[in-house]
Amino acid sequence: MEEVKKRVLSMLQPTGTFTLGNYFGAIKNFIPLQDEYECVYAMADLHAITVRQEPAALRQNVMKSYALTLACGIDLEKSILFLQSQVHEHAELAWILNCYTQFGELSRMTQFKDKSAKHADNVNAGLFTYPVLMAADILLYQADYVPIGADQKQHLELTRNIAERFNTLYSPTFKVPDPLIPKTGARIMSLQEPTKKMSKSDPNVNSFVSLLDDTDTVIRKFKRAVTDSEACVRFAEGKDGINNLMGIYSCATGKTYEEIEKEFEGKGYGDFKLAVGEVVADTLKPIQEKYNQIITDKAYLEACFADNAMKAERIARKTVSKVMKKVGYIINK
Ligand code: ATP
Ligand code: MG
Repeated sequence: MEEVKKRVLSMLQPTGTFTLGNYFGAIKNFIPLQDEYECVYAMADLHAITVRQEPAALRQNVMKSYALTLACGIDLEKSILFLQSQVHEHAELAWILNCYTQFGELSRMTQFKDKSAKHADNVNAGLFTYPVLMAADILLYQADYVPIGADQKQHLELTRNIAERFNTLYSPTFKVPDPLIPKTGARIMSLQEPTKKMSKSDPNVNSFVSLLDDTDTVIRKFKRAVTDSEACVRFAEGKDGINNLMGIYSCATGKTYEEIEKEFEGKGYGDFKLAVGEVVADTLKPIQEKYNQIITDKAYLEACFADNAMKAERIARKTVSKVMKKVGYIINK
C-alpha cells in the first residue's frame, strides 16, 4: 500500500527580496520537509496588497521571489509552488470564512494593531481580515501542518478556531492544522538594531542581508553590524549584536556556540565579522547562480506558474465545493 504523506502548507509574501532571516527562518527549513511531507508552497500576492504596492514592482517581486524560492531548493518534482492570485478559491473561501469569523476576534490580532500603526494612512479592511484569508489559504489544502514563526502563532490559532467552528456547525469539513516548529529554526535580527528582527521591508538597507547581495555588499554590511564594546566573541545576555552574528554563523556552518567561542578566542570583532560575512557570501553564491539561470528564462517561469496553479486548484476546488454544499449553495451539475 502506498504511504499517504501528511500535507504541509506555507506561504511567503513577495513584498521584496528575501533576506537571510527569511532563508534561515523559513525557506531553508522547507527543503528537507519535501521528502517527508507533501508540500504546498505559494507566493502570497493577495496578502501583499494589504500594503500599497507599485504594480510593476509587485510583478517583479513575484517573479523574483518565485525564482529565488526555486533557487533555494524547492523542487517542483516533489512540491507545488504557485501564485495565490492565480487560484481563485483563496478569495472565494476567504469570503465565506469572513462570515464565520467575529469582528472581536480580528480586533485582538496583534499584527493588525502593529501594521495599522505602521501604515496609519491606509488601514484598509483587507489588513483587518488578512487572518481570514490566511485561514482560507491553509484550510483549502486540508493541511496537517503549517511551519510558522512566532509572529504567526496567533493567526494559526484563529485558523484552528474557525475550522473547529465550521466543523461543529455543519459536519467535519476542514482538517484542523497543527503548527510545525522547525528543528533548526532561527530568528535573525537586524544588523543595525539587533533587538528588532531582520525584515525585508526595513527602510535601512544595512539592517538586512538580501539573498541577492553580492560578496562585497555582504561583507560590508557585516563590517558595519552593530556590536558592543567588550571585544569578546561569546554568547551572553545584553550582547544582542554578537549573539545575532553567532546565530547567523551557526546557521551557515552548523557549528555550536561553544565551537564558535573557541574558534574566535583571543580574536577581535573585526576578524569575526569578516568570517561571518565570508561564510554567508559562500552560502549565497550557489543560490544566486541558480537564480540567475531561472530568472532569465521567462518561458520556464510562466510554464511553472500555469502548471502549479492547476495542481493547487485541483485540491482547492474540492474543498470549496464541499463548503458550498454545506452552507447551502446550489452547484451547477
Ligand atoms: P515584511 O517585512 O514584508 O513583513 P519579512 O521579512 O518579515 O517581510 P515575511 O514574508 O513576513 O517576511 O515572512 C516570511 C517567512 O520568513 C515567515 O515564515 C517568517 O516567520 C520568516 N521570517 C521573517 N523574518 C524572519 C527573521 N528575521 N528571522 C527568522 N525568520 C523570519
Ligand atoms: Mg513579516
